[in-house]
Amino acid sequence: MDFHKMMKSSEKTINVTRSSMPDFTEYTEELRSLWDSRWLTNNGSKHRELKAALAQYLGVDCLELLVNGHMAIELSLQALGLRGEVITTPFTFASTTQAIVRSGLTPVFCDIDPVTYTMDTSKIEERITDRTCAILPVHVYGNVCGVEAIESIAAKHGLRVLYDAAHAFGVRYRGRGIGSFGDVSCFSFHATKVFHTIEGGGACFHDAALGVKLARMKDFGINGPEAVDEIGGNGKMNEFCAAMGLCNLRHIDGELQKRRQVVERYRARLEGIAGIQLNPAQPEVETNYAYFPAVFDPETFGASRDQVSDALEARGIKPRKYFYPLTSTFSCYGGRFDPAETPAALRVSRQVLTLPLYADLPLETVDQICGIILGCQN
Ligand SMILES: *Cc1c(COP(=O)(O)O)cnc(C)c1O
Repeated sequence: MDFHKMMKSSEKTINVTRSSMPDFTEYTEELRSLWDSRWLTNNGSKHRELKAALAQYLGVDCLELLVNGHMAIELSLQALGLRGEVITTPFTFASTTQAIVRSGLTPVFCDIDPVTYTMDTSKIEERITDRTCAILPVHVYGNVCGVEAIESIAAKHGLRVLYDAAHAFGVRYRGRGIGSFGDVSCFSFHATKVFHTIEGGGACFHDAALGVKLARMKDFGINGPEAVDEIGGNGKMNEFCAAMGLCNLRHIDGELQKRRQVVERYRARLEGIAGIQLNPAQPEVETNYAYFPAVFDPETFGASRDQVSDALEARGIKPRKYFYPLTSTFSCYGGRFDPAETPAALRVSRQVLTLPLYADLPLETVDQICGIILGCQN
């Protein structure tokens, strides 16, 4: 393939997501003061400004900014001083399970609800042992977990709750910011997420002492020039990332509205088609239109997830098999976990395809994608 043809075909590729960005000059203006201050990281002015703005937008008591969402989860698990088993879901991004394992904890996998894809709260208690210390559910695709049931199970058994809210930026439940649930809720501000700081993350919590601990743990455990009081690493967000966050936060409401139009167009084309299950509309939830998963039942629909994926790929459209495979089957865990113990998660992971969705995705492209999908039926 010659260079021009290659450029042309890559221009036409539709990826599953595309990062939102402010105007170039808006970002460079935001950065200008850094050329005077020469203060580029370590709790600089952009960092402090973003922290306050995000705590307000998300409706949370306390927030600590971190280098990425993964370190938010990992350092939070460590800051809570957990030991033993953590009940979690295998239907998630690698990060959730890796954070548990890397913190010296043992993941215990609970099955998911086949409609919301979040942890099936009726199956949590049967997973509890005398070694269980915490529950780590994920608000998958921005769908809200059974937060009330989880809270009462945790209270009954004396467990901590840490939510992976990486998909749920801006989601509200019963008027309450989703980051305010649990002992800790962790967001990712990665470039592919609804709101981003290029790379970044945030841990939200209620206990101010936990914030002091996290702030030290993300800075090598340092507490003053001659004191290192925690076991810590380097998890700080730098000023360039915080500045990107300040710019993106100004435009977040408009971005969500544009995403909403894309989601509504998908729904208008795919809703009610036999054999395709779409993300549920949850009562009392203000959603963030983060992802558009479609679950294909091959018998009823007439084509498998993989066939639909191949048909889209052949036309330069790149959906993602998100989440596939289950994290419990990763080779790095050496076959310690049996995916047959989470049958709903196993089935959904084999049938789900996450379709392209971003603010600037043209509605005609959505129509084209849906046309290709529906063309797979026969
Ligand atoms: C993106 C993501 C993470 C990790 O966030 P990073 O900012 O990329 O480190 C964790 N969990 C889930 C479910 C995610 O989607």
